[in-house]
Parts: sequence; structure tokens; C-alpha cells
Amino acid sequence: MNRRLFIGSLAATVRAQGVRKISVLLIDGQNNHRWQLTTPVLQRMFDQSGDQSGLFTVTIATSPPKGADMSSFRPDFAAYSVVVSNYNGEAWPETTRMAFEKYVRGGGGFVTVHAADNAFPEWTEYNRMIALGGWGGRTEKHGPYARFRDGKLTLDPKPGPGGHHGKRHAFTVTTRDRNHPITRGLPETWTHATDELYDSLRGPAQNITLLATAFSDPSTGGTGEHEPTLFTVKYGKGRVFHTTLGHDIEAMNCIGFAVTLLRGTEWAATGKVTQKVPVNFPK
Ligand code: ZN
Repeated sequence: MNRRLFIGSLAATVRAQGVRKISVLLIDGQNNHRWQLTTPVLQRMFDQSGDQSGLFTVTIATSPPKGADMSSFRPDFAAYSVVVSNYNGEAWPETTRMAFEKYVRGGGGFVTVHAADNAFPEWTEYNRMIALGGWGGRTEKHGPYARFRDGKLTLDPKPGPGGHHGKRHAFTVTTRDRNHPITRGLPETWTHATDELYDSLRGPAQNITLLATAFSDPSTGGTGEHEPTLFTVKYGKGRVFHTTLGHDIEAMNCIGFAVTLLRGTEWAATGKVTQKVPVNFPK
């Protein structure tokens, strides 16, 4: 078939249906969390998204397992509107890292979910994209801590390890920016399902727009600080949405998690959010 004609007719079909789907590349394959269980939950969320059922189409890229040859792992990032990472594992091949940097810097969307911000402590550009990360030997050399103090995001260069959480529990998330497309229409505070409340993340911490925080209560082993929970990062022309939530399927089984993930993914892909906040959003 004539390729030009084929592409032309495909575009016409998409227009005729009045639907422009957002193509999501969901990455997994290695994680200290059970990605085999959480990826299907994430996929179902994208498939059943919001009031425009089918806003997204999802393709999954599963890396080789830990210890296997990674050289074949070369997802075609540029073919997608947004990359969602459920990956926390071994380094990608250099060509893949370079392609990913080029993709995001050039305007691609990226969403990091929970332990994806534990990945790649030695990859400088990845750490700039996620802005804050934890574990993997992260220390003050990776950048400051970032907390919400006195009404604003405050960077703290104090030495110490990056990444910690107290006992798992349900906790209150406080929306700190109610004008951003992702959080517009969300309640000021809402209760999230039982999850890990990440604290003491650190990193380059540049170009962050803080959307929501959670108080890390010392009574549950936390820091006594309001820790960043949801935020965006500007990286070149790219848009990054960072959610620290989503330890397991119990934590993901929360309308607050799903709605913020779907809105954050749409925003990372397009710069806009067209989804309505559902009436059953938690209070
Ligand atoms: Zn976890």
C-alpha cells in the first residue's frame, strides 16, 4: 500500500471519530516493588480513564530481568506522547538513556510513579527530570532535601541520606496549588489510601512546581515535615509529573491516586487537562 495514502486515511479516520488518543508507553520489568501486579492496575486505569473512556492507549515496554543482557532494551520513546515509569532497576544501555534524554528535553512527557524515583542514582539527567529521588545511595551530593515550610517549597542542604518512609498508613494529602491544570478542582485536603509516605527525598530540585504535600507524622515514623507528594518538573521543553504515591495495589486502589495520575499523565502529554474531577473524589 502507498504509505502516504495509508497515513492520510488513518488521520481521516481518527478525525472522523473525533478522538485524539494519548499514546502512553508504560515501562516496567525491574522493580523492588511488585510491578507484575501494579502494571495491570495502571493499565486498567488508563484504559478506563475518566468520562472520555479511552483517552489513552497504552503500550507496555518490559525490560529484560535483573542480571540479563540489557542491550536490546531500546523502546521507541519518540513514538509516544508520554512515558510512564513503573521501573526501578538496573541502568539502561547508554543509547537508550541518550534517546530518553533527547525525548524529554525535546518536549516529551514523562511520569514517574512511586519507586521510579528510586531508580538511576548515578544518571545525572534522570535526576534532573525527577528533581527529587530517594535511596540508591543518594546523599547531599545529589542535592538538597525539599520540604514545604512557611508556605513555600524550601530547599535544605543538610547532609544525610535521601529517601525514607515511616509505617504504612492512610494519610491526608494537602493540595498546595489549586490553579495548576492537574490539581484544579481538587479539594484542599483529601485522604489517600494506605500507602508509604515518602520523606527526605533529595536531588537537583530545580524547576519544580509543587502541587501537593503530605505531613510526615513522627508518630508513624515520619520526619515532622510536609513532604512533597505530587509535583511537576520542567526539563527542557519536556513536562514531567512526579507522584510519590502508589506502593502497591492497595495504595493504587484509591480514586485520589488514579485521578491525579491520569490528570498528571494527560498534562505531561499535552500541557492541558480535559478530564473532570469525579464526584466521588475523596474528601
Ligand atoms: Zn514502596
